Amino acid sequence: MNKCLACGYKRENFDIRCPECGSFYPTIAELIAEEEANEERHSFRGYCKRILAADDKKQELLNELKQIKEGLSKKALFTIFLMIAFIFALTLSVL
Ligand SMILES: [Zn+2]
Repeated sequence: MNKCLACGYKRENFDIRCPECGSFYPTIAELIAEEEANEERHSFRGYCKRILAADDKKQELLNELKQIKEGLSKKALFTIFLMIAFIFALTLSVL
């Protein structure tokens, strides 16, 4: 990270704190973890994990679908397709 997240001050050396506002720069490990968490949240695996973890799976599925619909893209449509296939498979395994 070569920019302060708090104030946008350009980082010129490897200081751990921003000389401008005094807030800490995130470490690379933190950034990687954040990026991974973010990817996971928006991946098919993330959707399935949340749905399976929810008490009311149907309600959670509807919530996820609503969220996807709000930021609809080709990738999101593909995710919906995968989710429907997943639910279908889940239903078959239950029956
Ligand atoms: Zn700063």
